[in-house]
Amino acid sequence: MFVVWAILTAIAVAWSVSSAKQRALSDVMQKAGETLSVQTEILSGVLDKYRLLPPLLSQQSSIRALFVRDAEGNAQTIDARRAAEAISGMSAARDVAFVFPDGEILANARESFVERDEGLPELIRVAEQGRLGRAALSNSRGERTYAFSSGVRREGKFVGVVIVYVDFYRVEAAWALSARRIFVTDQAGTVFLANDADWRLKPISQLRQTGGVGRYLIDGRFEDRLDLVRRLPVLEWDLHVLADPAPVAAARLSAASIATLVGLLVGMIALVVLRRNEEAIIKARTDRAIALRLERVVRDRTRALSITNQSLSQEVEVRREAEERLRKTQDELVQTAKLAALGQMSTALSHEYNQPLAAIRSYADNALRFLERGAIPEVSGNLSRINGLVERMAELSRTLLSFSRKPGATIGPVPLGTIVDEALLLARPRARAAGVATIAVGEGVSGLYVVGGRIRLGQVFVNLINNAIDALSGQSDAVVEIDARREGERIVVTVIDNGPGIEPDQLPKVFEPFFTTKEVGEGIGIGLSIVDNIIRDFGGTIMVTNRPEGGACFTINLRAADPENGVADGESILTSSRAVV
Ligand code: ADP
Repeated sequence: MFVVWAILTAIAVAWSVSSAKQRALSDVMQKAGETLSVQTEILSGVLDKYRLLPPLLSQQSSIRALFVRDAEGNAQTIDARRAAEAISGMSAARDVAFVFPDGEILANARESFVERDEGLPELIRVAEQGRLGRAALSNSRGERTYAFSSGVRREGKFVGVVIVYVDFYRVEAAWALSARRIFVTDQAGTVFLANDADWRLKPISQLRQTGGVGRYLIDGRFEDRLDLVRRLPVLEWDLHVLADPAPVAAARLSAASIATLVGLLVGMIALVVLRRNEEAIIKARTDRAIALRLERVVRDRTRALSITNQSLSQEVEVRREAEERLRKTQDELVQTAKLAALGQMSTALSHEYNQPLAAIRSYADNALRFLERGAIPEVSGNLSRINGLVERMAELSRTLLSFSRKPGATIGPVPLGTIVDEALLLARPRARAAGVATIAVGEGVSGLYVVGGRIRLGQVFVNLINNAIDALSGQSDAVVEIDARREGERIVVTVIDNGPGIEPDQLPKVFEPFFTTKEVGEGIGIGLSIVDNIIRDFGGTIMVTNRPEGGACFTINLRAADPENGVADGESILTSSRAVV
């Protein structure tokens, strides 16, 4: 690219230099040529004028009459001199001379050249032959002239010669105004006329270094000049005008500079444009590459995503199937658990019912035998025992009923103290029977309200107190304590005893249904399970721990209720048909 630009610039520079040179050269030549034409005309005019003068004068009778000598050989010098001065003055010739054929000067106007006979014999000889004599002359003062001569004849006899000397002073003075060198060389190559005085009468070979167009001695040193030459028709001399080629060189230089500058400018613009183009192409390529990379990444990601999607849907399907299987298995397990629970329950229940039934049978049999014997008081005793056993079976039946029935949905603010008191009423007989003398209720219990159902909360306390009584059975210092406190929006109720507590490994199991450590017939293990469900229904929790000093501690956490909003009424546990375990 750079090479192409350099070649184009070089061509442009060369072309503009050459055309500028041509223009400047033709301009210089034209001006010099104009000078040459004008000066040729002037010089030819001057020479023509003086060329015609001698033949005209020699025809004049008054002039012819001057060429006589008297007997002593004296001529009419004074008249001849006057005539010469008159003619010279009128024609502005350098000089006018009348000369006898033998070379003696009859008279002349200014005596400038005629004192020397240089050229004079030739002028006389040619004039004698009837032709126009001509001679280029110069004197010791460096003055130059051109002489035209014509023969004077009287009655066919050659009596003298009229010579007119041409004055080049005005011509050279006019040339002096020109900046260009103007000069005339004769046939011998000598500079005859010149606007530089130093050049006059010197051979051109001394003033010029090379032939034709070349270097000329200008003001002491050789300089390049263009030489325009024209032949003068009268004299066979050459008129030269030297033109200074400096404008050509200057034009070439300025054309070269301008062309180079333009080339540089064009080159720079081209460079900028190319650079921009290149940058645009690179940017487009980069953008394309980025777009392709992005496309590839997106494609890869899409493919990976669709693969992931596929495997996810497969996984979902597998999970769905697994869940289905799990659900089925769970259903089966539940069914199995239900059956197991039913089995357990049946065993426990059959035990619970068979024992009193067997007792009832033997009491009834005995009563019959006592009746046969007429022992009425024993019959009565047996019947009342049967009554007690039936009552116990009925109680068991009610408990089962309460377990199976869905509890009432109504919950609301209930008075904790009242409920605890009611539960105690139910529990005290059993406590007395078991020898548990003290069931204490803390002061914190009264006045507190909790969110719950009155009967079911009563059931909770009856169950907990009964369990404590069972654990304390036969213990002399047996104590059960119920207390409560408010903790922010919660009410914490504790039921503690000083019994043996619960085996640590059994602590997590006591709320499970059918977990019991009691003998068959004494417990079926659903009491705490029911308690846990009831408390959950109230939005509360129950937990059990062993006290460090011995005994179990059941902690119930319930929502505190605001009695201002009304107390949830309903039947008391004392009047309820439901029993407790
Ligand atoms: P049940 O009373 O029929 O056994 P529960 O669910 O009421 O059923 O009680 C489960 C078990 O928890 C009891 O068998 C007993 O071992 C244990 N338990 C409950 N309360 C106490 C307590 N206060 N002290 C010691 N053990 C207790």
